[in-house]
Amino acid sequence: MYSIAELQTRLHQLGALPAHRDRVLRHWLHNIPLDKGRRALQHFLPLAVREALPELMGELASLARLQEQHPGADGSERLLVGLQDGQSAEAVLLPRGGLCVSSQVGCAVGCRFCMTGQGGLVRQLGSAEILAQLALARQIRPVRKVVFMGMGEPSHNLAAVLEAIELMGTVGQIGHKQLVFSTVGDARIFDQLRQARVRPALALSLHSSNAQRRRELLPRAAPLEPQWLVEEADRYGRDTGYPVQYQWTLIEGVNDSAEEIDGVARLLAGRWGVLNMIPYNSVPALPYQRPDWERCRAIARELHQRGVLTKLRDSAGQDVDGGCGQLRARAQQQALQ
Ligand code: SF4
Repeated sequence: MYSIAELQTRLHQLGALPAHRDRVLRHWLHNIPLDKGRRALQHFLPLAVREALPELMGELASLARLQEQHPGADGSERLLVGLQDGQSAEAVLLPRGGLCVSSQVGCAVGCRFCMTGQGGLVRQLGSAEILAQLALARQIRPVRKVVFMGMGEPSHNLAAVLEAIELMGTVGQIGHKQLVFSTVGDARIFDQLRQARVRPALALSLHSSNAQRRRELLPRAAPLEPQWLVEEADRYGRDTGYPVQYQWTLIEGVNDSAEEIDGVARLLAGRWGVLNMIPYNSVPALPYQRPDWERCRAIARELHQRGVLTKLRDSAGQDVDGGCGQLRARAQQQALQ
């Protein structure tokens, strides 16, 4: 049962009405024990559904099992999540009630600096598997914000991601502004996000202001001009009222030059949004390096002075050797040994 549509079909076969689905989902996403909500369930659910609930809940719980948990010194915790078919995905509990979820196993974009991108796309996650990461995380601590910045490119799995966002923003009781759709950009997404019942905030991964360099760094991202992407993102941000987060992984000797700083200033000065500058989290298997922290601070300061609201952020979980895709890569290696 990977998708919510499959759950809906199962419930329908048991005689449930469409509205009953949300009661079941509420119990699951908030980890409410069945006996705790028994009165409500007895009132509202047909007998056949109530009888099937323990089995259904067991199946939902098996969509995402905790395989590994790596606490970091900054309050984050990296989770390796086991899926029903033996695949795994990564999720990260962030400080202050955040959760970073995966939307795919692997990723087709192939960013040169990302471990997940090196193995290509393995498979899509169903909407239920995305929601299952939230249910699992809430067994560990409360979650009030969900960012789609884990493994995968959400625009490549748009229907499942939008369904998960809608349910997180309604039954899951996450504020809409606290749902963050993070993308490298795709021409279709801006209109579709605008039309969604729950419209999330937007994070746009830029990484370079230079179209050619961006194509080299993100080889299978849609070949769209950074200028066009920023204008579309800006329009979406203004329509929703949520400032856009522009993401920039800062890599030594790759996108930390004076020319790039000029390019960022040209693209983003005066925009209603924030530039999250994240110094690269070096990985032994890849040839990229993290710039010196003082250099990062100087870049952030300069951009700030040039009218770009810039936040220099340390990537969560750096000290547990778990940048995006690393936990999964390491688990696969161990399985082969
Ligand atoms: Fe995919 Fe994101 Fe990794 Fe790029 S950084 S390969 S978009 S998971």
